[in-house]
Amino acid sequence: MDNNFSVSNEYIYSLLEQENKTDDTQIEEVLARAERLAGLNHHDIAALLSTNNDKHWQRIFQIAGDIKRKVYGDRVVVFAPLYISDSCVNNCTYCGFRADNKFMRRQLTMDELRQEVRALEQMGHKRLALEAGEDPENCPLDYILDCIREIYEMKFNNGAIRRINVNIGATSLEDYKRLKAAEIGTYILFQETYHKETYESVHISGPKSDYTYHLTAFDRAMQTGLDDVGAGVLFGLYDYKFEILALMLHNEHLEQRFGVGFHTISVPRIREAVGVKSTEFPYAVNDETFRKIVAILRLAVPYTGIILSTRETPQMRKTLINAGVSQISAGSRTDVGGYSKSANLSTTEQFSTIDNRATNDIICWLMNEGLVPSFCTACYRKGRTGDRFMELAKTGKIRNVCLPNGLLTLKEYALDYGNEAFGAQVDEFISNMLNKLDNEQVRQRVIANLQLLENGERDVFF
Ligand code: SF4
Ligand code: SF4
Repeated sequence: MDNNFSVSNEYIYSLLEQENKTDDTQIEEVLARAERLAGLNHHDIAALLSTNNDKHWQRIFQIAGDIKRKVYGDRVVVFAPLYISDSCVNNCTYCGFRADNKFMRRQLTMDELRQEVRALEQMGHKRLALEAGEDPENCPLDYILDCIREIYEMKFNNGAIRRINVNIGATSLEDYKRLKAAEIGTYILFQETYHKETYESVHISGPKSDYTYHLTAFDRAMQTGLDDVGAGVLFGLYDYKFEILALMLHNEHLEQRFGVGFHTISVPRIREAVGVKSTEFPYAVNDETFRKIVAILRLAVPYTGIILSTRETPQMRKTLINAGVSQISAGSRTDVGGYSKSANLSTTEQFSTIDNRATNDIICWLMNEGLVPSFCTACYRKGRTGDRFMELAKTGKIRNVCLPNGLLTLKEYALDYGNEAFGAQVDEFISNMLNKLDNEQVRQRVIANLQLLENGERDVFF
């Protein structure tokens, strides 16, 4: 028996047997804990998952929205994925990049990479999620590290990519050490499904088909000191209740073993891509269930970022932001070279996007919804990662940096990428938002920093 995480189906099924056995008093106790931002354990979560009472669900949605506002102060972090390679030796049945799909595979050349990053910078992005299929021969870690180095070294007039989160396949201790040394932001790895039999049926071949190796990847990563890890489940592969409980048990395991759990949780759900039909997945979740999933996670882990991709409609994205999502991608392309059209090759998407609005349209939309679009990357550059981040979050101090940093990055965005009318709109928006900062000292510092930006300084953050 090692110390790595493992999943017991029997245990999770026994938790799920509570269905319809939980009474109102128990649910109210759990909700009271959630309201105090205390987070929930897997027993609490099982209790919430067991209720079909609409009155309970309305309370859960309301608390989820309140938690998000209390912790993050209405900011929504905006980022973009950057696909550097679509070569993959795995056959994941739900993915357009799977090895059996026949199309011309490619990796960005360094020149193409620079064109992609240039295009992303011109959209205003500061935070990327670097994505690559798994192919040790055509896309080795050396290549990935070269890309990271190159991106961090690129500087534009005022812009630069300031944080690179990395989403690559499960790997060895040695490789995680090298990723850590490359100063990546969050290491993201989706478990896809925690249910072993389902996992094996949708991961037909390739290294990713090894369930245990994949499941224990965060144990290896965190042993090397990579303490910002981001999990994800592809909802729709198996019963969502099973997945939520397994995900939360995984989080509890990391907290117990390393003192800190997931920094982020991504919530994709099955969408069509080349060779993928969502109708083939009987566990696909509808909109209302998806909203419940997000809300339960927000109650369970109030300080963990919840990330939503452009796989959802604008309306659904709005609903899910209100239910607890705190980071969204914007202007995304899920093919290699998609931002700059750097090569005249036809490319294949990993999955189809639905919210295809330009980054600027998403920024305006968020502001119209009373939300602060944020390009902030401050925490990891201030050394606020892992348990140091959680300490700040759990004491409620994160709110004193999240909203201010969101406002500062929005101002920077308006100055560098907007016209006069947009600048005026942003100034009015910021002035209204400043009133929401209850700490007068922080408010005065934000006002002073806004002036620094006006005077030409950049990258000013708390
Ligand atoms: Fe490859 Fe990842 Fe797609 Fe699986 S999900 S086929 S590992 S790119
Ligand atoms: Fe994220 Fe930290 Fe910036 Fe808040 S202050 S948006 S937690 S990087």
